[in-house]
Parts: sequence; C-alpha cells; structure tokens
Amino acid sequence: MSLGIKKGDKVFVRCGKDKGKTGRVLKVLRTGERAIVEGVNIVKKHMRRRSEGDPTGVKEIPSSVNMSNLALFCSNCNKGVRFGTKALDSKSKMRVCKKCNQPIE
Ligand SMILES: [Zn+2]
Repeated sequence: MSLGIKKGDKVFVRCGKDKGKTGRVLKVLRTGERAIVEGVNIVKKHMRRRSEGDPTGVKEIPSSVNMSNLALFCSNCNKGVRFGTKALDSKSKMRVCKKCNQPIE
C-alpha cells in the first residue's frame, strides 16, 4: 500500500500558476503521477450546444497536475510539508509531518 498523496487529501500547490493554493484531491490518475485537485489548474471549456435547452457557455473543469508539484498540507503547520511514515503496528502505517511530527489525516 502506497502512503503517497491520495484521494481526499488536502494538498498544497508548490509551483505553477496555482502556486500557494490548497485543495482536496478529487482523483489520482491511474499512473499515480498526476492528480486532479479541487479548484486547481482550472481550464475553461467552451460548451457546444447539442440540442435546444442545453447549457451553453464556459464550463470550468479542473485539469490534472503533476504530483511533484503537490505537497501534503499539514493543518498543524498550516502549510505544505514533507511527510514521512510511522509504523503503528506490524500492519499499518500512518503519515506524519516531518516538521511537527503530527499525523496527517
Ligand atoms: Zn506539520
């Protein structure tokens, strides 16, 4: 089991146009190298009307960002941090902030 960034995690954007933003991971792409983060890397898609009554205009869709641009957000430090893992018992591990040593939910 990987203890990397996963769906539902709060993350911090370290670089790119959305640098400094935080958001929840909505989805990790299958390769594990990219993730879709709420409110981050929004692209505008122009919707074409297929039939009468369809919504038209611009739809804003979050596009994936590279995992290397993301850091886990530690609510204790209130910023994006590096994290390590700590064994709870022989079966499970948890992620801990390398700065404050608190577990990251
Ligand atoms: Zn911390």
